[in-house]
Amino acid sequence: MRAADRAHVFHSWSAQGHIDPLPIAGAAGSWFWDHAGNRWLDFSSQLVNVNIGHQHPKLVAGIAEQAARLATVSPAFANDARAEAARLIAEVAPGDLNRVFFTNGGAEANEHAVRMARVHTGRHKVLAAYRSYHGATAGAIALTGEPRRWGSEPGTPGVVRYWGPYPYRSAFHAGSEEEESARALEHLRQTMVMEGPHTIAAVVLETVVGTNGILVPPPGYLEGVRALCDEFGVLLIADEVMAGFGRCGEWFAVDHWGVVPDLITFAKGINSGYVPLGGVVISDAVADTFRDRPYPGGLTYSGHPLACASAVVSMGVFREENILEHVRTLGEKVIGPELRALAERHPSVGDVRGLGVFWALELVRDRETREPLVPFNASGTDAAPMAEFTAACKASGLWPFVHFNRTHVVPPCTITEEEVRYGIALLDRALDVADRHTTA
Ligand code: PLP
Repeated sequence: MRAADRAHVFHSWSAQGHIDPLPIAGAAGSWFWDHAGNRWLDFSSQLVNVNIGHQHPKLVAGIAEQAARLATVSPAFANDARAEAARLIAEVAPGDLNRVFFTNGGAEANEHAVRMARVHTGRHKVLAAYRSYHGATAGAIALTGEPRRWGSEPGTPGVVRYWGPYPYRSAFHAGSEEEESARALEHLRQTMVMEGPHTIAAVVLETVVGTNGILVPPPGYLEGVRALCDEFGVLLIADEVMAGFGRCGEWFAVDHWGVVPDLITFAKGINSGYVPLGGVVISDAVADTFRDRPYPGGLTYSGHPLACASAVVSMGVFREENILEHVRTLGEKVIGPELRALAERHPSVGDVRGLGVFWALELVRDRETREPLVPFNASGTDAAPMAEFTAACKASGLWPFVHFNRTHVVPPCTITEEEVRYGIALLDRALDVADRHTTA
């Protein structure tokens, strides 16, 4: 198997000659294992998508049932699994976001949200943030504000970049969360004014920035962006591909701030990736644009019955198992306090932030100067301290999520309190390795 993989599988984001992917034999709940019987506690939820845990029996059975009944049907037909998934999503979506366009994943969802915004407004520019990830298709990678974009440049035109809030490393020299929020909003306003609001179709943002740092918006920021969009007739697209469906303890992360976007994109946690699925939840006003005029887009697998059936079952499990409440309690009572306690013990921990089951530890060489443990976009020997930390986690049976100088604590929403405490105890030991690289 390993030989066939190395000979024939072309892997994502990798120099093909420099990888040796671990063969996985199975998984259950918050754990997965290899063929030699080594087990890991999944603190990454794979790609932060297995929100309901691995191999949930109801989800597996739901997919099998749907496969036996109707495995596939063209998007042009109506289908019960698709209709029910859309109804359930609209039911929990904020405001008048009442319709769903289904895609195969997050990147496509963002592609279509932008297309809808452009046609709806008749404008072409899209404002997208530095420190963001929106997917790897042509348009989504152009929106992305981090190094994965560089290899695809020059990308699709019309994307204008702005800085979002990041209190720990403020681009605005802010001294408090409130100041950060106010200055980030003023910067966004100036960007809009200078670009010409009449040319801007949408502002796209991750409600809580995911891979690029678990950046929770400071008080007033999202509300302020909504107000700016309203003032200038610009649509607000909330990318909730990672933050949505339980990760932040809500169906949609925007619910924390009571903000209603015009379009929400989702994927990952909707059905924990058991079958590829994503989509755009669409406001009535945007949907109305396409009442008498055809929407210029579609996908062979839009609203695939297997994917939609698994979404229906997954949303049911969220309710039956009270998962949103569980996530909120874990975040407030267990993960947050435990990670803050780690910060007390380890000089390499510069910042702890997050909510729900969506947390980051930002590792530094020096807490005073906040110099990152490894440089931005580090590779090779520059990245060694994080590589050593990662290896220490994996050797102890913990599978961490690591990005630049951060480790994210992003386990399945269904992880138990005992498992969380066990995993954080393993992190505690691995951080000793990071501490050795501090200079303070
Ligand atoms: N948007 C965000 C916020 C993401 O985190 C991701 C994937 O990590 C995407 C979009 C892209 O989703 P996909 O890989 O399903 O295309």
